Amino acid sequence: MNSVTVRVPAKVNLQLAVGPLRDDGYHDLVNVFHAVSIFDEVTATAETGMSVRVEGESADQVPEDGDNLAIRAAIALAGHAGRPYGVNLLIRKSIPVAGGMAGGSADAAAALVACNELWGLGLPREDLMEIAADIGSDVPFALLGGTAIGTGRGERLTSLDVAGTFHWVFALADGGLSTAAVYAECDRLRQASGELVAWPQAAGALLAALREGDAEALGAQLGNDLQPAAVALRGSLAHTLDAGRKQGALGSLVSGSGPTCAFLARSAAHAGELAAGLKDAGVARDVITAHGPVPGPAVV
Ligand code: ATP
Repeated sequence: MNSVTVRVPAKVNLQLAVGPLRDDGYHDLVNVFHAVSIFDEVTATAETGMSVRVEGESADQVPEDGDNLAIRAAIALAGHAGRPYGVNLLIRKSIPVAGGMAGGSADAAAALVACNELWGLGLPREDLMEIAADIGSDVPFALLGGTAIGTGRGERLTSLDVAGTFHWVFALADGGLSTAAVYAECDRLRQASGELVAWPQAAGALLAALREGDAEALGAQLGNDLQPAAVALRGSLAHTLDAGRKQGALGSLVSGSGPTCAFLARSAAHAGELAAGLKDAGVARDVITAHGPVPGPAVV
């Protein structure tokens, strides 16, 4: 086999509860991840060295060197196998870059699956999960897909039962937000307000809404502790979120560390109407519809 292509979805966080800042600089999280139908494709082709090329959505903002998360994943996998494997990775991006939809983590997960196949390693997903956790907190979920709750830094995962399909609209912003900067702003806002930061807890009503496939109840439960910080750093997000609510979204939130905003719709048709309304309102660079949950990375 000379080349393997893997398709991998983006994620939105349905609940992101951020605990107090730990001594090691991380936060304990309760993170409900939901994979949605916006996909990057990673093609791994046998080569002697390690290289990466990026095409598509905001490709110019993605590094094409050892900082690329997909090439880091390939290097980690070769290290785990203890062999001097090589690969060229071609990433075709549709997931917004630095958009809070874990595009880089998705590409890393796709690279693990593609290289495992290309190099004939036959490693089980549990082994890939361990390598994934060393690359970044969102990479294990990117390997898993579906809907799952993550604790710790978000990397200790349990899959959740979800009835049916939820329909989403995503408002993409111009330019990204740095995840580190959003966490730092969250800490700063909390310190300034003197607020006592609670231990993060899963919202029982949100998990019930997922189990029952109840979009109305899910919309009411969506929550992201990073949202005030993302809005503080990018004031225009307040208008975007407001426009979605006015147009009848069942719920709205900033996705992860932003700046992408997510809106829950009643149905695919409602998502189409909501997307058209948001486009007309001129509050986003682009507006796209998607559904979830969808499975994790798969060879195509
Ligand atoms: P998260 O939701 O996990 O915080 P994000 O979706 O906000 O992440 P990414 O698209 O993963 O952000 O990109 C974050 C940064 O990582 C980008 O600014 C980019 O320079 C770098 N990066 C490294 N590898 C990749 C990759 N394969 N795809 C996208 N960005 C990458």
